[in-house]
Amino acid sequence: MAFKKIIDSIPEFYHPFLPDVFQMTIPPEPFSSCPRCPMIAESRDEISFDNGKPFAPDTKCCTFTPRLPNYMAGAILSDNDPAIREGKKRISDRIRTDKGIFPNGVYPTGEYNKLYQAISSTGFGRSIELLCPYFVHGRFNCSIWKFREATCALWFCKHIGGKKGAEFWQSVMDYLKFLQESLMNIAAFKCGLHPVDPYGEGSYPGFRESSERRDNGRNIADIWKKWKGHKADYYIRCYEIICNLDAGEIQNISNHGYELAKRIENLASGMVTIPEFLSVNRDLIRDDQTGHYVVEITSFFEILQKSIVWSFRLPKFILDPFNGITKTSDIVKLILESHSVRIEPEILIALYRQGILKDSGI
Ligand code: SF4
Ligand code: SF4
Repeated sequence: MAFKKIIDSIPEFYHPFLPDVFQMTIPPEPFSSCPRCPMIAESRDEISFDNGKPFAPDTKCCTFTPRLPNYMAGAILSDNDPAIREGKKRISDRIRTDKGIFPNGVYPTGEYNKLYQAISSTGFGRSIELLCPYFVHGRFNCSIWKFREATCALWFCKHIGGKKGAEFWQSVMDYLKFLQESLMNIAAFKCGLHPVDPYGEGSYPGFRESSERRDNGRNIADIWKKWKGHKADYYIRCYEIICNLDAGEIQNISNHGYELAKRIENLASGMVTIPEFLSVNRDLIRDDQTGHYVVEITSFFEILQKSIVWSFRLPKFILDPFNGITKTSDIVKLILESHSVRIEPEILIALYRQGILKDSGI
């Protein structure tokens, strides 16, 4: 597990728009390995919080519908990659039904939003009703992965850096959401439309689903202007506009995102710093009498307001030398010399950030 660049977790489409901070290297997230999802139970009958497998095998964590920005919908519609064929079909179908279709992009429907609010605290990770419309069954589950939205790109169920790691990834997500919104606004304005969040601002009745509108509000022609009846073409045009932004426009976005980028830098540096002297927190490990310790880690899921416990085994020779008085760098050298095992920095970060190794305060 080598460190990787932050940019490696971001869909390639966004790379030309990202500031230098995204070139920083950080530990990977090996405990969130989606193709071999460790969070799913074998069957729906076996779903349990106690064994660390709280999600259903036929939903995983995709019980969420992303807000796809206008230019991303256009990217999907324009792409001829066979890997995106199913996603393209699903977006085209959504546009035909005209549900959740706005100048801002392809959004969850109003009905879905209400359902999510009502049942996500118990149904996240398991409710078929909440399953994402772009989900496909099989090893790889996303039909629009190449053009995934910020939440789908950057939500990890477990963080190697514990709370610090969660805070760090949230800062990266905040930047990507800021970038998404900036690009979405530019595209809509350049097409002559007014990008207003359809659900975030209740004073715009015209942006609600036509099936939900109880007043005459602004009629559909006001919202879509010349794009009425040509919504797929509109999304494709948004994509073309964003692909052709000039360097000055891209720099302008980066200038506005300066504070968010700075926050990423600070959190990334803080996450990888570990104390010089560490000792083992024996309350969090158990001797399994086979020369190993069982290490238990608790993760809190905000949306479910529940914690899950997950565990793994480590040879005793890796943890025992952390006695609080020998330097961490010397212990790493000692383990390499005596057992030919290299303790990579990300392992130390994980053990420290998860509380297994604690600062001995020397
Ligand atoms: S992020 Fe979702 S799919 Fe990936 S490992 Fe975690 S629960 Fe599974
Ligand atoms: S868009 Fe893809 S990754 Fe995101 S929730 Fe849907 S299926 Fe999952």
